[in-house]
Amino acid sequence: MIAELIDGKAVAARLRADVAAQAASLRARDIAPLLAVVLVGDDPASQVYVRSKTKAAREANIDIRDLKYAAITQSELLEVVRDLNGDPQVDGILVQLPLPPNIDSEVIIRAIDPDKDVDGLHPVSLGLLAQGKPVFVPCTPKGCMRLLRDAGAELAGARAVVLGRSLLVGKPIALLLQNANATVTMCHSKTRDLADEVRRADVVVAAIGKPELVKGDWIKDGAYVIDVGINRTDAGKLLGDVEYTSAAQRARAITPVPGGVGPMTIACLLENTVEAARRRRG
Ligand code: NAD
Repeated sequence: MIAELIDGKAVAARLRADVAAQAASLRARDIAPLLAVVLVGDDPASQVYVRSKTKAAREANIDIRDLKYAAITQSELLEVVRDLNGDPQVDGILVQLPLPPNIDSEVIIRAIDPDKDVDGLHPVSLGLLAQGKPVFVPCTPKGCMRLLRDAGAELAGARAVVLGRSLLVGKPIALLLQNANATVTMCHSKTRDLADEVRRADVVVAAIGKPELVKGDWIKDGAYVIDVGINRTDAGKLLGDVEYTSAAQRARAITPVPGGVGPMTIACLLENTVEAARRRRG
C-alpha cells in the first residue's frame, strides 16, 4: 500500500480561511477578536514562531497586542498577565514558551485566566479535557485530531499508540483519542518494546523529538501515521520522528515533515482565539 499524504498545509489553509470568515462576522458585530502575544528574552526560534503567529492572526482578521520584554522578573511578568486578564478587549493570552530560566513557566501559565487560555495549557483547560469536556484544547494536539478526521480515520474502537507523554503534545493527544473512543496506549522513554507497540497500532502519533526513531517496517499495513516530531539535522534538513519513505509504503495515510502537523498548530491557535472571543463577547 502506498500511503495517502496528509497535506497539513492545505488543511490548515482551509481552517484559517474558515477562522478569518468567523472573525469577520464577529467584527461586523463590533467584536474585534484580540490575541495578546507575550515574548520574553531573545530566543531566535521563539522570535520566528511569534512572527508567524502574529502574521497569521492579522491575516485571519484577529488583532494582535505584541508584548516583548528583553528581560523581566517573574513577578513583573505575573503583573503583565494579570493586566491582560483584566482587560476586556483581550480575548486570548499566549505566553511564548520556553521562558528564560529565571521564570517558572508553570506559575505563569497558572496565572492566565482560563477563559483566555487559547494555548490550552492551564490546569483548568487540561482538567476539562481529561473530563471529556474540553473548552480550549492545546493547539498541536487539536491539529493532529483534525488531520486524522480529515484523512478519514475511523477512531472509535481503533487501537491508537501515542509516542511521547509531554504535557504539550503526547498527554493531550492521548486524552483526545480516548475521548474519540480509541483504545489508547501511551509509550515513552521507559517503554520496553516500542516496535512491538507500534506494530499493533491502527493509529500512530509520534511526538518524541528523535529523528526517524520509528522505523517504517514497524508500521502496520493500513495504519494512519501522524508525525509531530521536528528534528533539524546537522545539514539543516528537517526530519520527523518516523522514517517517512518506508512508513509510506505501509500506511494508509501519513503526515510529511515539514508540511504535516506544523501548519496546523498556528491555525488551531487562531481557531481557539476566535472561539474565546465568541464565548466571552459573542
Ligand atoms: P518532550 O521532549 O517534552 O517530550 C518527548 C517525549 O518523548 C517524552 O515524553 C519522552 O518520554 C518521550 N521519549 C523520549 N525518548 C523516547 C523513546 N526512545 N521512545 C519513546 N518515547 C520517548 O517533547 P515535546 O514537546 O512533546 O515535542 C516532541 C516533538 O514534537 C519534538 O520534536 C518537537 O519539536 C515536536 N513538536 C512539534 C510541534 C508542531 O507544531 N509540529 C509542536 C510541539 C512539538
